[in-house]
Amino acid sequence: MKASYIVAKNLSLIYTFPMSIRENIVAVKSRVEQALSRAGRKPEEVIILAATKTVDAERIREAVEAGIREIGENRVQEAQRKIAVLGREGIRWHMIGRLQRNKVKHAVRLFDMIQSVDSLSLCEELEKRLSGLGKEMDILIEVNIGGEPTKGGIMPEELEAFLEKMASFRHIKCKGLMSIPPWCENPEKVRPYFSRMYAIWERMKGAGFPRVEMKYLSMGMSEDFEIAIEEGSNMIRVGRAIFGERKR
Ligand SMILES: *Cc1c(COP(=O)(O)O)cnc(C)c1O
Repeated sequence: MKASYIVAKNLSLIYTFPMSIRENIVAVKSRVEQALSRAGRKPEEVIILAATKTVDAERIREAVEAGIREIGENRVQEAQRKIAVLGREGIRWHMIGRLQRNKVKHAVRLFDMIQSVDSLSLCEELEKRLSGLGKEMDILIEVNIGGEPTKGGIMPEELEAFLEKMASFRHIKCKGLMSIPPWCENPEKVRPYFSRMYAIWERMKGAGFPRVEMKYLSMGMSEDFEIAIEEGSNMIRVGRAIFGERKR
């Protein structure tokens, strides 16, 4: 209990006194439960996805053995290597990085969910490759909640028109929204972006677009996942709080 409290207060301590991946996961889970309880939400309402860019397969295996079931990768080739080692039994592989059209051919075979869908041309390429395989793919639409020009994601004001178009893609199943809010030194400053995302997600859920199921709201990372949960996230993507600081 003490250890996880210290971690909650100061994330950087986990880099000074490295704990095992298993211990880190226990600590993250306990912080998730505390955040849920502060928000008056039911326990076990949040999926913890391990964000594993630059983390080698053996360390990912430790996380899987400690109970992690969802793995998020940022690059197609890196994911391909790791999936070849770890397989797919008991693991759902998510693409969380920007997906280039010329990588879609491989991505549709590799991943169980693509969380970073942010353009119609990407949807068209996905549809083409998926129908060729006879496979359906769960996706999340990435929303550029900060309106940052350098970042991917659909602008909030364009989201409704975008979701309307989902009806025409027979092999794509839209399962919700993903967002990476602007980076702020003080995670409290990110809270308004999370709450805005939650409001948008709720509104889009109510709108009932065909072939759109607003099941997941994927937001919150190592620095701010507790705040994201307090504001309604049901899937957090956690890298450094599980694996420690990235080397590269
Ligand atoms: C790296 C990454 C994360 C996790 O970031 P941490 O700060 O290591 O928790 C989450 N989402 C995306 C899209 C990422 O690229």
